[in-house]
Amino acid sequence: MLSNADLAELLAQQSEREAGILVRAYRRAARSAFLWPDNATEIVAQNRSLTELHSVGPFIAEQIRRWLDNPPQSSAKPPRIRRDFIALADARMLLRKHEAWSKLLRGDLQMHTRWSDGSGTIAQMAEVARERGYAYIAITDHSKGLKIAGGIDEAQLREQAAEIAKVNLSIARGGTKLSVLGSIEMNLNPRGEGDMDPRSLSRLDLVLGSFHSVLREKQDQTERYLAAIRNPQIQILGHPRGRIYNYRLGLKADWLRVFAEAARLDKAVEIDCYPDRQDIDLSLLKLARTEGVRISLGTDAHHPWQFAFIEFGLAAALKAKIPAERILNFMSILDLKSWANRLRRRGSRKR
Ligand SMILES: [Zn+2]
Repeated sequence: MLSNADLAELLAQQSEREAGILVRAYRRAARSAFLWPDNATEIVAQNRSLTELHSVGPFIAEQIRRWLDNPPQSSAKPPRIRRDFIALADARMLLRKHEAWSKLLRGDLQMHTRWSDGSGTIAQMAEVARERGYAYIAITDHSKGLKIAGGIDEAQLREQAAEIAKVNLSIARGGTKLSVLGSIEMNLNPRGEGDMDPRSLSRLDLVLGSFHSVLREKQDQTERYLAAIRNPQIQILGHPRGRIYNYRLGLKADWLRVFAEAARLDKAVEIDCYPDRQDIDLSLLKLARTEGVRISLGTDAHHPWQFAFIEFGLAAALKAKIPAERILNFMSILDLKSWANRLRRRGSRKR
């Protein structure tokens, strides 16, 4: 029986055989398959139409039917650029079998708002977090170096802090226990250095650092990662590999050394839960587990509905058997803040 992930691979391979508009149609369908809420096999079994699935028109539906009726022998292992991605339908199935695991979740630690390239306001993101019963969310808009994503500078970060304070006040007045944390996804250059005045960062609850440039380098990038992990301004390394499904492979490094250093300094590495990122992936998560490094889950939501992406990260951490106490998002708000403060104090002593 073909899973949605198998179908995604067949769709991606088909796109490589096609020409004209079908190339993109199949490519899009492959990417969408990771977000289909139900397995295509169930949909067919229930006599529903496959066209209810995102990016599936009658033509592609017909092709999927043929594959389901007669699974191709050649559905080989995906190439590395498409390997190790979990499909939402599988993530949900797994999480349903381990309900206690998802109940440990208390928040989401990466999201973007209108302050940079997101579509929601802080209040709208907080409203979704409240509906989901979260204890906290971190607002992590891009920093000024990432102009293409509307990165914010120190002055805007200060204005944003005032807005966060206002939202927190109105949440508290409404009787909800939800904290909106001031944070940022700071852009790191390939030397692992940030682009913000350290004083403006010291007012934040958390700082994520991420690479957004020179991501197609083929050589080993261990030094860049060690520098990022050692950067005293950051506590969490965001979407570490920089991979994107069927588009970019992501960077190469001696991950064991990177994770060992993160564990030694008590820093966290992220599972970016965005479906076509899923970064770090399962194989690296297993290494992260053996080194005992802390894991942060961030949806990287750019729209309020994308909070749902957290299931990809929950499923990946569960599959990799990351111990619950290593996951930042399972901590209480007090423990989370005191962890970040501890790292910050240690960092400022060194400077
Ligand atoms: Zn990013």
